[in-house]
Amino acid sequence: MKAAVIGCPVGHSLSPLIHNYWIEKYGLSGRYDAREIQPGQLEAGLAALIEEGYTGFSVTIPHKQAVMGLCDSIDDTARRIGAVNCIAVDRDGAVEGLNTDWFGFTENVRESAPGFDFTAGPALVLGAGGAARAILYGLQHEGAPRIVIANRTPEKARELAGAFGATYIAWEDRARAAAGAGLVVNTTSAGMTGKPALDFDVKDLNKGALVCDIVYSPLRTALLESAAAHGNMTVEGLGMLLHQARPAFERWTGILPAVTDELRRMLLEKLGKQ
Ligand code: NAP
Repeated sequence: MKAAVIGCPVGHSLSPLIHNYWIEKYGLSGRYDAREIQPGQLEAGLAALIEEGYTGFSVTIPHKQAVMGLCDSIDDTARRIGAVNCIAVDRDGAVEGLNTDWFGFTENVRESAPGFDFTAGPALVLGAGGAARAILYGLQHEGAPRIVIANRTPEKARELAGAFGATYIAWEDRARAAAGAGLVVNTTSAGMTGKPALDFDVKDLNKGALVCDIVYSPLRTALLESAAAHGNMTVEGLGMLLHQARPAFERWTGILPAVTDELRRMLLEKLGKQ
């Protein structure tokens, strides 16, 4: 297999570590690289990589939406989400776009909070960017009875709520909505290393709510720390990154790989050095 993550920037991507670990673990030949493609260069850049013999791509910021126009086919899930994060190039050269982010999210919750019931209560989603779309799909797939979206820029929350049949609330009302939520998910980039902290007061947070952050650098975000101190169960974002990679690897190789403790340790070590 010859695969790569494409995005801009891709220098800090953890995907090569994950996929090369699996290539070695399952005794496959091939490699997985990080290849930067500048915005505006996507069509030519992707074509050049396919010409070089790459048959699998992970797609990251800022190309997840733009790449849809370059696919010969897009599976129903990626179309519904409105973003492609995985590409498979078949023997005849046909380019298929898929989305595995939603699976990464739900599978991570299942693994990190066994027994959590998505159908038991409303979900509050903070943020309305690209990642939020996959999370909304995942929540609906798992049967969340009600989904409430809050975003700093209200128009985006309104648009997303319309697209997914969810409810949007003002950003100012997020803490109040958390009082009645069974699940709270931060999909904003706030709280990431180098970005401002997420402004979220856990004071009124339902103590029975599961709190997830999809930000994984730092691993324990301020949101997770304050929710845990408040008595809530929490789920870190690194597992989503690991689990979204599994169906991609399976699509390229036929092997659904496992997330091992060893792989997790390797990622944490790399994150620690970044
Ligand atoms: P995006 O499309 O750029 O969206 C960013 C979102 O964050 C928007 O809703 C934006 O609100 C909000 N935001 C940014 N700064 C904020 C602040 N200071 N206060 C409140 N809201 C703020 O990004 P994305 O692709 O959705 O990614 C979001 C985060 O998820 C990133 O940190 C990314 O690394 C992470 N992620 C993790 C995984 C994983 O596997 N764990 C997968 C995908 C993404 P506005 O609309 O108001 O700008």
